[in-house]
Amino acid sequence: MAGIYIHIPFCQRRCIYCDFYSTTDADRTVSYVRALRKEFQMRKDYLHGETIETIYLGGGTPSQLSVSLLAEILDGIYSVFEVGENAEVTIECNPDDLSEDYVRGLRSLAFNRVSMGVQSFSDEHLTRLRRRHSAAQAIEAVRCLQKSGIANISIDLIYGLPGETLSEWKSDLDKAFSLDVPHLSAYHLMYEEGTPLYKLYQQHKVSEVAEDLSVAMFETLIDKSAAAGYEHYEISNFCYPDMYSRHNSSYWHGIPYLGCGASAHSFDGRSRQWNVASLSEYIEGIENGKLNCETEELDICTRYNDFVMTALRTSIGLSISQMRLQFGAELSDYCMKMARTSLSNGLLEIVERDGDRYLKLSRKGIFVSDDVMSDLMWV
Ligand code: SF4
Repeated sequence: MAGIYIHIPFCQRRCIYCDFYSTTDADRTVSYVRALRKEFQMRKDYLHGETIETIYLGGGTPSQLSVSLLAEILDGIYSVFEVGENAEVTIECNPDDLSEDYVRGLRSLAFNRVSMGVQSFSDEHLTRLRRRHSAAQAIEAVRCLQKSGIANISIDLIYGLPGETLSEWKSDLDKAFSLDVPHLSAYHLMYEEGTPLYKLYQQHKVSEVAEDLSVAMFETLIDKSAAAGYEHYEISNFCYPDMYSRHNSSYWHGIPYLGCGASAHSFDGRSRQWNVASLSEYIEGIENGKLNCETEELDICTRYNDFVMTALRTSIGLSISQMRLQFGAELSDYCMKMARTSLSNGLLEIVERDGDRYLKLSRKGIFVSDDVMSDLMWV
């Protein structure tokens, strides 16, 4: 079992908080898709013939590509790899790209899941973030997808926006839940270095929300999503029963994936590889039969750190027997020793399930998850 991630690095314009690799130069979409198809051929053995169970087109803005270019990408994947019959095939979309015609086009392809960057239901905040859609367009896009029969929809929201109040965040959540979408990802706004937002922050033109408001927003998110029937299955992710993102869950469970396209990352269980974050270097390299990328072999301690960090983010937690099996007695004893303080402070707990014991964050621990996890890291 494995996954494929395709990075589509085109955006109509850049949102002020975003540090993902993308460009507003839309002239090279055709040559980019040609390069992607070639990369599939060049890397067809990366996953050792494993069946592909998830495909994820992320960005950037994949919905900036025409339906015929998307069809070429999927055709390239399906003709090179063995894709499972019930594979989850997700595309990230911007709400204002989702016209009825476009959605009909997506329906005609293999896509069975749409992840949409809504971010806020306040037009004022959307404008400040330089999003290019309104709240009404996001609601309309969800309705359009649902009418077309694409029911597996995820929406992204951001909280902790400059000047945002708790009641605005509550209202965003109420609107999100009223849409009856089965999956929600909610992230606290980050001030990433190099972004226009970070510059505004340095110039004291915007400021972070207060710590106690951040905590109250996260608490509200957890409580309201539970009341609305969502399972909190990963720190930032919520879903109706069984509607979790299979693709993202495989990242958290260490399943190998191939990442194609500029800046895409791959993981084969032993090493990480990442493609160059430059459209022209990526395309030109592939045209000359060379993949511009870097590789990092992962030693056992790095793999242990990744395992702890990803497993503890999930509601299932970290399987103690799996840790021992994968990393041996020394590292698993180290982990349990380092967990003692958080266990006695009630930040971590041990639960028994199906004959195994799992180490997981308690409700209290979720709010300080970074600190708890860093205590368990091998340094
Ligand atoms: S948030 Fe999405 S749409 Fe906005 S610049 Fe980043 S990748 Fe593009």
